[in-house]
Amino acid sequence: MFNKRTKIKVLLSGEQIGQEVTVMGWVRTFRNNQFIALNDGSTNNNIQVVAELGLLGEADLKRITTGASLKVTGEVVASLGKGQAVEVKATAIEILGDSDAEKYPLQPKKHSLEFLREKAHLRFRTNTFGAVFRIRHSLAFAVHQFFNDRGFVYLHTPIITSSDAEGAGEMFRVTTLPLENPPTQEDGSIDFSEDFFGKSTNLTVSGQLEGELGAMAFSEIYTFGPTFRAENSNTTRHLAEFWMIEPEMAFHDIEDNMNLAEAFIQHLIRYAMEHNAEDLAFLDQRLAEEEKSKPQAERSELGLLEKLRFVVENKFERITYTDAINILLESPAYKKKKFKYEVSWGIDLQSEHERYLVEKHFKKPVIVTGYPAAIKAFYMRMNDDGKTVAAMDILAPGIGEIVGGSQREERLEILEKRMSDMHIPAEEMSWYLDTRRFGTVPHAGFGLGFERMVQFVTGMGNIRDVIPFARTPKNCEF
Ligand code: ATP
Ligand code: MN
Repeated sequence: MFNKRTKIKVLLSGEQIGQEVTVMGWVRTFRNNQFIALNDGSTNNNIQVVAELGLLGEADLKRITTGASLKVTGEVVASLGKGQAVEVKATAIEILGDSDAEKYPLQPKKHSLEFLREKAHLRFRTNTFGAVFRIRHSLAFAVHQFFNDRGFVYLHTPIITSSDAEGAGEMFRVTTLPLENPPTQEDGSIDFSEDFFGKSTNLTVSGQLEGELGAMAFSEIYTFGPTFRAENSNTTRHLAEFWMIEPEMAFHDIEDNMNLAEAFIQHLIRYAMEHNAEDLAFLDQRLAEEEKSKPQAERSELGLLEKLRFVVENKFERITYTDAINILLESPAYKKKKFKYEVSWGIDLQSEHERYLVEKHFKKPVIVTGYPAAIKAFYMRMNDDGKTVAAMDILAPGIGEIVGGSQREERLEILEKRMSDMHIPAEEMSWYLDTRRFGTVPHAGFGLGFERMVQFVTGMGNIRDVIPFARTPKNCEF
């Protein structure tokens, strides 16, 4: 019986006029004891259900409240009212689940994003989050499509890891040892040989190292999975649990890597523009309204759709880290001492610097290459100058860093030297070094933070609003 249901998105296309249908969903509003706006999440647009006088008794009419779930059978007719092309003239309405109007937290009015974050279990039922999460779905689908079309193998890298080469200090421990009285060694330190895996383990901060092992056999792989960072960054761009896409490609240099990352980002945007036009138009409108409440100087020059179109149609700017530092040093912002953090060759670019480059200077996404070796990970390929590495970060307007990547160091001796300089225990990483011992090849890869990408496409300012249930410092509800 339930599979006879017609989705509201399909109904609204108008093809069923004259047919009898069954539709199910949740009440958004109920007017004049007659007009029900019903939504099933397939689109932000509601189907208007007309309950003619007498169809429902007094008691049942009272049960049609915001949030209640209904099964409606009736005829699809062209609508006489304004605002919708078709409506359903109900012949039967069954109330599947009541919703106490006094207690239901979502009222038919505008709620703040902060309020809805507290009600994250219900916020999917709002227009904003309906749009955001349908787009998130589309983007995830487009990720797989992009790589599948190019012959990449989707590799599931582990969530639990015993290597902490990358995440020094930023990892969540995984253990079954008792918190009170854990087994200790003679020197008093915890004896992890007693732990579940017989060694110290954590949640992964990146699937890259394992991804490289796959690339050394399949040529091109990608991962797309959850990633965990115990960094205490309470920002609008950081989550403790987020999703990352990490392609890794043999026979690719830094140039190929940049080209792929650029094409990838453009593909994701184009896919959403094609498949989520309605939701994007809604979010474009939402953002425009939000911008109106900001002071002129802080408003962005382009609307959401304009921005997305611009990014799809224009090449990303490509500069070196050294160029970036020079631009910053020459900038009015620097001269007027507007930056909080110092600028000099060797610094890690702070988010204020990244945003100046993309939002004020270039006004488009920027790929920065050739970072100082000292501020980048051990596996990045050393450039001929002996000072910089073949890293590439992509900076996006309104977001800052959206991609971090590099060509990897494929030369065993140089890699080993770098590891020992950085005090990374080579013995524990022997499996990784094997790729350089047996048939090493030039290769490259990058990581795209999925939520930052969703933020970019939806225009949502806070990363907590683009993941269903955010995990951030001191917050793990639902
Ligand atoms: P940031 O400097 O912004 O903290 P990062 O240099 O730590 O980023 P990488 O280690 O290069 O980031 O990770 C690759 C990508 O993963 C980043 O470009 C970003 O898009 C995303 N990312 C990193 N940390 C987080 C986080 N805590 N929450 C959400 N996304 C993240
Ligand atoms: Mn970080």
